[in-house]
Amino acid sequence: MDANMTSDDTTTINELRQKVQKFVDDRDWNKYHNPKDVAISIAIEAAELMEHFQWIKENELDEVIKEKSAELQDELADILIYCLSFANSVGIDISHAVTQKIQKNESKYPIEEVKGNYKKYTEIRNNKPFHQ
Ligand SMILES: [Mg+2]
Repeated sequence: MDANMTSDDTTTINELRQKVQKFVDDRDWNKYHNPKDVAISIAIEAAELMEHFQWIKENELDEVIKEKSAELQDELADILIYCLSFANSVGIDISHAVTQKIQKNESKYPIEEVKGNYKKYTEIRNNKPFHQ
């Protein structure tokens, strides 16, 4: 898989999963890519992405995103790679999981109740608890 020939339009999630699994297998790293450590790694990489925005003001965002596009791309890739590895290690079908969660979110956030409204679900529903 040549990175320059790869795009979301032509690559499947399964191909990326296999690429990550091959990387792990080739290095005999399955013992490290266990669900606990990979979950921790997802959070660490998310923090690395957030670090690029630490102390940045709203009016500086566009410039930072432009100047740090390569770093942001790498951090996003790190997060996704660990997400794919997590799915591999616990056997989650990502397409099913994402589709199912979007359906849950659609019922939790009905368009007619939330459109253009940034309020949290608990505020919209008069602080009634919700199920995830
Ligand atoms: Mg990183």
